[in-house]
Amino acid sequence: MILRPFARRPALAALVCLPLLLSVPLSAMAAGRHAQWLGQTGWLLAMGCGALWLYGREQRRKARATLQDACLGLLEFDLTQQYVRGSVHTLQRLLGLPAHTRGMNCARWLMLLHPEDRQLFSNLLLHPPGNPETGYEMRIRHHSGHWEWLEMNLQPAWRNGKVQRLTAICRVITARKHDEAAMLQREQQFRTLVENAEDIIARYDLELRCLFINRSVSRFSELPLDEHLGKTPRQKGWSDDASDRFEQECQLLINNWEARRFELELQHRQQRHIFEIRLFPEFDSAGMLKSILSVDRDVTATRQGERLLAEENEVLEMIAGNHPLPQTLEQICQMMESQQPGGMCSVLLLEENGQALRFAAGMSLPPAYRKLSERVAVGPSVGSCGSAAHWKRAIVVDDILNSPLWAHALDRVRPFGLRACWSIPIFSSDSQLLGTLATYYREPRGPLPEELALALRITRIIAIALQRDGHERQLYRLATQDGLTELNNRRQFIELADREIERSRRHGGAVTVLMMDLDHFKDINDQYGHAVGDEVIRHFSQVCREVLRASDLCGRLGGEEFAAVLPETGMDAALLVAERLRGLAGAARLDTAGGLLGYTVSIGIAERQPEESGIDEVLGRADRQLYRAKRGGRNRVCGAALALSS
Ligand code: GH3
Ligand code: MG
Ligand code: MG
Repeated sequence: MILRPFARRPALAALVCLPLLLSVPLSAMAAGRHAQWLGQTGWLLAMGCGALWLYGREQRRKARATLQDACLGLLEFDLTQQYVRGSVHTLQRLLGLPAHTRGMNCARWLMLLHPEDRQLFSNLLLHPPGNPETGYEMRIRHHSGHWEWLEMNLQPAWRNGKVQRLTAICRVITARKHDEAAMLQREQQFRTLVENAEDIIARYDLELRCLFINRSVSRFSELPLDEHLGKTPRQKGWSDDASDRFEQECQLLINNWEARRFELELQHRQQRHIFEIRLFPEFDSAGMLKSILSVDRDVTATRQGERLLAEENEVLEMIAGNHPLPQTLEQICQMMESQQPGGMCSVLLLEENGQALRFAAGMSLPPAYRKLSERVAVGPSVGSCGSAAHWKRAIVVDDILNSPLWAHALDRVRPFGLRACWSIPIFSSDSQLLGTLATYYREPRGPLPEELALALRITRIIAIALQRDGHERQLYRLATQDGLTELNNRRQFIELADREIERSRRHGGAVTVLMMDLDHFKDINDQYGHAVGDEVIRHFSQVCREVLRASDLCGRLGGEEFAAVLPETGMDAALLVAERLRGLAGAARLDTAGGLLGYTVSIGIAERQPEESGIDEVLGRADRQLYRAKRGGRNRVCGAALALSS
């Protein structure tokens, strides 16, 4: 039992036993001092050798452990015998083979290799390298079933001018290979992410030269991908403003190594793009700033959307706050233009007769062009707007100079340099055409789908503004107009007449007031019915419109009673006007179911006296003159002291 280690290791046995064997006869011969000294020396020698052996064993154990830990092993490929041999435990350590396995033939070795690596190694055995070679990597089937990665450093041994053996220092590198594969996979995943990212991802050196950029950039730049490399943003053609800002932000990052975030506007194909740019510092293994990673996101749609919402709110507030329509429409044009840089917008409104459009807003257009489009006929090929109103659909003219729709006006339009014009009809909520919204550009171009969508959206806001304005007008009309005759109602007449009297008092001009009342109107009602009575009232209002000037003021004060204010008109002229009114009314014959109907009117006139500053006094005096006319037999005009009769 004790001797077993020596049985397996003859050199060790010899080393321990020799001094012992020597010490025995020497001790036996010991008769004198020398013999005793020799005996003691032998023992000492034996103990020293034992200690040395123990030390060596420990060292070897450590070396084996190190080999084992490092998964190293020594193999020898005997090319003559086609046999591979390993030192003790090598094959167990490397491939998990049973401990006693010391070798195998090369054919079996080859069969254990991964099919992809087999050919290479087979060639190596057939044509062994003449010089030491390093770094052969191969996969071999481990006894447990998995593929073990081995790295081999080969040392050829020559004999008779031929490589006889290859000594291979093998290292198991499976863990490293797996780590490398995982890293490669992560890198590939990262690359895939970067390459397919919507964002532009770029790396810049500290001089701001581009080191890398993903292909997202090609959506915003004409430069081929590799021509970005080595260039700074300024060299790539960014505007001065954008370049300055980018350089400034990078400098801040370089100074304090902190990430930055900011927004930039860049133009691409006449379109503005807003980018949110995030800059990240990148460090080398020594912890020094090495490069700048830039992740740029196109936030144009978001920012435009936010801006549009804010501007829309502003416009809606204007609408709700009852701002004058021209101001609101102008604001809407500005909103549209802020969404479409380079575009100029105008709003044309349909005239009541539906035959033409009138220019309503569009201050960005040249003044002379605005004048030219003051009134645009509605027709099948009258520019973009006239045609859009005619066909009641969007008309896109991407090049005015080559469009048949503009041929009729080309000579007049050419000097303004306008090249594209898209016009979208504006419809009310009940699908009535209200007008058109046009966008002009100075270069030929068609709209993007989102630009058309925006224009449509804006036409709805315009429709709201127009309808709101229409309602306001209607309310105003209801509050100030007489429904039957559309003349001023009493309240409105008194208000306006008061102003006129006051104005004439200030300027010292003459002004006269007429009070008019249809004669025996009750009889007309009774004889022909109330509806015919209304017809007569309407007829007389029309007579007033015909006879009075635009600067005169006329109103229906109630029933069949009317009044008029004639500015800058003295009594004599007023009498003539009144006489014309009376004459026309008296001469009229209305065709009714009950036969032709005639009617007459009595008129009283008063001129403002210097001391009078309100309508009531003058109107009161005119009313008294009217009473005189009635009393005088009706169908007559009475003014001041004199009265004219038919
Ligand atoms: P005179 O010559 O004295 O003015 O006699 P008249 O019959 O016209 O008398 P008065 O002015 O008192 O009568 C006004 C009538 O007008 C009374 C009313 O029935 C009628 N009237 C008032 N408003 C309307 C209206 O809107 N439509 C119709 N058809 N009749 C009205
Ligand atoms: Mg009357
Ligand atoms: Mg009356």
